[in-house]
Amino acid sequence: PPFQPDQQEDIASLVHPYTNLSTFRESGPTILTSGEGVYVTDSEGNRYLEGLAGLWCTALGYGNEELIETAKEQLSTLSFTHLFGGKSHEPAIELAEKLKQMAPCPVSKVFFTCSGSEANDSQVKLAWYYNNARGKPEKKKIISRVKAYHGVTIASASLTGLPNNHLDFDLPYGDRFLHTSCPHHYRFAEAGESELDFSARLAEDLDALINREGPDTIAAFIAEPVMGAGGVIVPPEGYFEVIQAVLAKYDILFIADEVITGFGRLGTMFGSEALGIEPDSISLAKALTSAYAPLGAVTVSEPVYEAMLDESEKIGTFGHGFTYGGHPMSAALGVKTLEIYERENIAGRVAKIAPKFQARLKALSDHPLVGEARGMGLIGGLELVADKATKQPFDPKQFVGAKAAALIQKEGLIIRPIGDTIGICPPLIITEDQIDELFDALHRGLDAAEEMVRR
Ligand code: PLP
Repeated sequence: PPFQPDQQEDIASLVHPYTNLSTFRESGPTILTSGEGVYVTDSEGNRYLEGLAGLWCTALGYGNEELIETAKEQLSTLSFTHLFGGKSHEPAIELAEKLKQMAPCPVSKVFFTCSGSEANDSQVKLAWYYNNARGKPEKKKIISRVKAYHGVTIASASLTGLPNNHLDFDLPYGDRFLHTSCPHHYRFAEAGESELDFSARLAEDLDALINREGPDTIAAFIAEPVMGAGGVIVPPEGYFEVIQAVLAKYDILFIADEVITGFGRLGTMFGSEALGIEPDSISLAKALTSAYAPLGAVTVSEPVYEAMLDESEKIGTFGHGFTYGGHPMSAALGVKTLEIYERENIAGRVAKIAPKFQARLKALSDHPLVGEARGMGLIGGLELVADKATKQPFDPKQFVGAKAAALIQKEGLIIRPIGDTIGICPPLIITEDQIDELFDALHRGLDAAEEMVRR
């Protein structure tokens, strides 16, 4: 198609992350110019329902006046200071206090970053630091899961369990990052295996991995309560219960990556609460500011903080931190965002409308292209398959997911193709009527995709 001048400039000048260049060159970029509520508008005047909340993050939608005012006010009062070497600022203090009260785990202190990747990177360093400090330098390996998504820095990409993040970069890095089985019943259960039996088998896999490596070499296990960027995978029944029992046997910390599930997405304030996880620490980002500014955070437990205090034998300090970690504007936005979540009972609101969202999502399992419709709270995934009966996937070279996403976008809905799984994760402020609008558009787009596939 003939591209607009701004699209041509984009193609000439930008490297886009995670962009399938073969389909991108055909379709060109969608340049968004404004947003209001759950809708965004592009440079050609097309309006879309943002069905992925940006990138799983714009929980309160676009154009929230309170947040805009908060950012302006903070920038006009104190646009920057940092947290290094004894400096501090009020928004960071207030936000840390608030997160301590809210977190689903014991928290001594909060450490701020600028992103989810940096949060998980910091988790890795904290675990290593802690075990060095307590005289267990051999306890350094971290276990994550196949299909996990924990970010893209060298350490967090190593935790990530997706081939795309490893190939071409020689990752995972070194021998400290291990991956255990993916808890996706539809894809990996044996014929006739119940969810409970599948969970028990995954716990045995984890136990075997720990024993193969040596329990004394494993520092932590990290998991998203519901896997997001790996394809929206809801764990099978009983999964976290049996996994936690294995970890407890071997003194292995549980880090919950709440970057997507934090702040109401599953109908509880944190995903850990919805799934019976009792983490030692959590990673946060995305909805922490409802994406009005970049910010990430990790919680630090008392034993880990105690280890950081013991500097008597060392010259240095905890040698880790980001110039913009806990930036005053981001932190002020975090404080205001959390105030709004609590005032509006956002998690309760999600719990109330989730049954409708899930009912409409799961009704799509009757669609000829859909192998599995899965989800929880206000997040969902539709796995498109070539053959529903055998679960045969499409040839990846057909780019069915990416092409379906383009057709769905033509119907006025933005979603995210993850391979051939369609990810859906609207702003938490979506109304019941807008849920209908979302699924009506999705249905039309899937029908068009089916026609394309059968052609
Ligand atoms: N962890 C999870 C669960 C995520 O979904 C993401 C991003 O999608 C990240 C970490 C990385 O966050 P960021 O892109 O802010 O670095």
